[in-house]
Amino acid sequence: MELWQDDRTTVEQLAHLVQADPALSGRLLKLANSASLGSRPVTSINAAIIKVGLKTVGELAVAFSLIDKGHSNHCEAFDYLEFWSHSLLMGLLCRALGRRTNVAPPEDLFSCALMSRIGLLAFATIYPSEYSELLKAHPANLAAAERERFGFDHNELSAEMLSDFGLPNVLAEASKFHEQPNASGYTEGSRSAKLVHLFHLGYRLSDLCLSINSERDDEGDLRLPRAHQLNLSSDQVIEILKQSLTDWQEWSKTLDLPVIPLAQLPETEDDTRTVAASPESKPGLQALLVSTEGATQRLKSLLPKIGIQAHSCQDEKEMLRLALQLQPKLIFIGECRQQDRRIKLCELIRSTNWGKLVYLVAIIDDANSDKITAAFHSGIDTFIPSTIREEELNARIQPAHRLVALQTHWETDRAELRRIANALALSQRKTELLSLTDQLTELPNRRSAIADIERAWAMSDRAGLPLSIIMIDIDHFKRINDSLGHAAGDKTLVEVAKALRSDLRQDDRVYRIGGEEFLLLSSTSDIKQLIIAAERLRRRIAALHIDYEGQTIQVSISLGLARREASHQHYDALLSLADTALYEAKSSGRNRICYSHQQQIRLLGMPA
Ligand code: GH3
Ligand code: MG
Ligand code: MG
Repeated sequence: MELWQDDRTTVEQLAHLVQADPALSGRLLKLANSASLGSRPVTSINAAIIKVGLKTVGELAVAFSLIDKGHSNHCEAFDYLEFWSHSLLMGLLCRALGRRTNVAPPEDLFSCALMSRIGLLAFATIYPSEYSELLKAHPANLAAAERERFGFDHNELSAEMLSDFGLPNVLAEASKFHEQPNASGYTEGSRSAKLVHLFHLGYRLSDLCLSINSERDDEGDLRLPRAHQLNLSSDQVIEILKQSLTDWQEWSKTLDLPVIPLAQLPETEDDTRTVAASPESKPGLQALLVSTEGATQRLKSLLPKIGIQAHSCQDEKEMLRLALQLQPKLIFIGECRQQDRRIKLCELIRSTNWGKLVYLVAIIDDANSDKITAAFHSGIDTFIPSTIREEELNARIQPAHRLVALQTHWETDRAELRRIANALALSQRKTELLSLTDQLTELPNRRSAIADIERAWAMSDRAGLPLSIIMIDIDHFKRINDSLGHAAGDKTLVEVAKALRSDLRQDDRVYRIGGEEFLLLSSTSDIKQLIIAAERLRRRIAALHIDYEGQTIQVSISLGLARREASHQHYDALLSLADTALYEAKSSGRNRICYSHQQQIRLLGMPA
């Protein structure tokens, strides 16, 4: 994800990365060679990347990293298949919705929606047995159970992970509410609110498709959700759904996911009921028989008898393609009249990542010392005659079984290490989050504010971007504590924080930096709009009626606004300017805004 998002990344760097992952390479080649992309066969990863485009490689990598079959199927009650299918469909739906509505770049919406539920997978991976119990015990209120058990739910975790992956914060934040759009608190009609509706629609539609196809009949609402918030008619939604389902079937084939039949959906053209068989799921060892010249029929008929699945191929290209797809543990190389050709073939296999661990058997009939020596130098593990008997063949490949067992053992160890590393990273992330969040109001705290201001200041330095700060302080807050008690004061803080947060604009962030003091950081260039937003906040707080044990609490806030000026060498100067403005707002009567600008303080908003 990081490489892919960096503009300086070259195709070579990406190709290098892709090649390290045989399964990804295989799928990329498959996609590049799929019918819809043209007829010239693509065999190199570089060419494949150029052909399918950098964006698609990124998408594929992301999609495929979700479908890392080998290591993740440990959480018994977690339906991996449904998760993958659901995520993929939701990604495609949101991309299609994005093309129709222009709310955000469609490709960004794809990635974000694809991973908007990745928190579920993370829980299942890190706490397989505990999470399995949780899933069984609380199918209906999973998020609440997760919060109680882990301190946060899958939606919060997903959003954190998306931010970590480098996806735009606006998208990550909005995707957090895809299950419950009403909980977002965004102002209806704002971009964030539209994003939430888009993700929610993608989620509902994806759910709907999988419910219709599932065996279960406990799924609730099977009607098409409405999309009026996105200004889409039902016909348009159906059209988007159809297109996405067609894409979904294509992608599912590429990713070796089962293609779920879509019989009951509005006239989908392609009703293929094929379930793409995953080669890994077949029992026994997979072997590849490469016979460029010599016949290997006898061997091919012997291998199944000793529990080995044999696949034949005739040349190097076909071998590479099959090897990427099947990841065989065993390769037999047939007799070649030209020894050079066999030696090159063995060297080629050993030069690839997957080929390093393969058990390589040469078929040699007229064995002489020179020939055998050369064969071993080129990388074979053993050799057999083509006339070998079944018992001897069985005995000769025992080392291959041992090698595979060792590899599996090693993989399990690695998976366990990865699981522990993930759990550590998660708990570290949790501690980090806690240390940056104010527990009472759940707003980011002073530490977080300073870190963000430092970052914003550096950006402002580099790119000459504007930077503004509003200091906010509740008026006569002490009186609430004194008259109604500390708990009433706490409740007031929580309600004020909620109100401040609910009205935030896209470029603004609010923090609780002290007892009853808040800070708003803004990178907006339009100071007039910022003043209007500040005035809206002031009025909103003044209009709050906070209920505390039957009593109504009313408060007001004073605001001090300042903007980075050319003379400011350090952000401290900006903070102190905003402080001065706040002091002025207090001393001139409270419940008002002062703007400190070029040595002058202007009084802006105040009660009528
Ligand atoms: P002013 O209008 O000048 O800002 O007056 P004020 O009373 O709001 O300001 P002052 O600084 O005198 O008092 C702030 C009070 O906030 C003092 C402190 O006890 C209280 N406080 C600080 N943190 C908390 C908190 O977490 N909960 C509660 N309930 N009170 C808090
Ligand atoms: Mg104060
Ligand atoms: Mg105060």
